[in-house]
Amino acid sequence: MPEEKREFVCISCPRGCEITTVLDGKSIVSVSGNICKLGVKYVEDEVTDPRRIVTSTVRVRGGVTPLAPVWTEQSIPKGMILRLADGLRKVEMTAPVKCGDVVLENIFGTGINVVASGEVDVK
Ligand code: SF4
Repeated sequence: MPEEKREFVCISCPRGCEITTVLDGKSIVSVSGNICKLGVKYVEDEVTDPRRIVTSTVRVRGGVTPLAPVWTEQSIPKGMILRLADGLRKVEMTAPVKCGDVVLENIFGTGINVVASGEVDVK
């Protein structure tokens, strides 16, 4: 398999290093542009199993605000993000919403929950 050059922006810290990687399939041949070892780990994860914490909002019935902020308790595979966004559009919670309330449990069998990341009081 021919070697392939790929560019990444490390999101492990706010510095956002631009990392150039040479890949042979899913094997990493070289990594450059990273300031620290976390950049290498970031590239390894991106190549083998890219994941993201997802933040979003869901509708709230009877609350002082119409939406509650939510997030995944852990990062989920990137391939699941659109499906999750679709599912969250159909969710409606009832006020009051407390931080940590489970919004969706065990999403796609990952064992990861979506939980409220803020509070919404009753109107
Ligand atoms: S390589 Fe290190 S310094 Fe650069 S963005 Fe990633 S974590 Fe931050």
